[in-house]
Amino acid sequence: MSEDVYGVQTAGRVTHGLLRLGTAMRDHAWEWAEGAKLTPTQGEILVLLMQRKATMRLGEIARETALTAPTTSDVVSRLEEKGLVEKRRAIDDGRALSVRLTARGRTAAKRASQWPEFLANAVGRLHADEQAAFYRTLLKAIRQLEANEQMPTHSMCLSCAHFEVSKYPKRSPHHCALLQLSMADTDLRLDCSVYEEADVATQKKSWKVFVQVT
Ligand code: SF4
Repeated sequence: MSEDVYGVQTAGRVTHGLLRLGTAMRDHAWEWAEGAKLTPTQGEILVLLMQRKATMRLGEIARETALTAPTTSDVVSRLEEKGLVEKRRAIDDGRALSVRLTARGRTAAKRASQWPEFLANAVGRLHADEQAAFYRTLLKAIRQLEANEQMPTHSMCLSCAHFEVSKYPKRSPHHCALLQLSMADTDLRLDCSVYEEADVATQKKSWKVFVQVT
């Protein structure tokens, strides 16, 4: 591939690098999936259910994985046939289906969560300051993609009603009002089980301050 396909400016080089990482991730995900007799998408849904530690509606799974409703339904049915998930009528809405892991599904999900270890190992070799800067940059890029509606939204601190951005001018400047936690940039969560979405004005304020001070 020509070096300048994505441009020679920094944004183009970063885009090129991210695409190469995407290729490596796809390759590792398929290698794991073939060994586990699953697909990467099946593995992704198993890990999502494990992270949530609770039942999830089909619609929620579709939203979080950016899959269409028919594809989500099909993938979950395949997992059910393999005995890795169970589908039940939702307690609060008899028309909706909720999905949860079986015991075998939990074991498979733990294994599925391990294929990105090659990435964790590579990032772990970076200096602590580089890791922190990398995470801050990722948070900003993810939030920007969410705002552009080019990525599923996350239950992340930056859009949470309990997040108090840059409350203290010290090493752990942010604060979670719900959990009463002081937080450095590297403590900010991407997928928090007690997240509550803030109103638009609060989200904009948090984002503006975060971008200015980090
Ligand atoms: S509730 Fe969770 S997402 Fe919200 S600020 Fe606290 S830690 Fe972050």
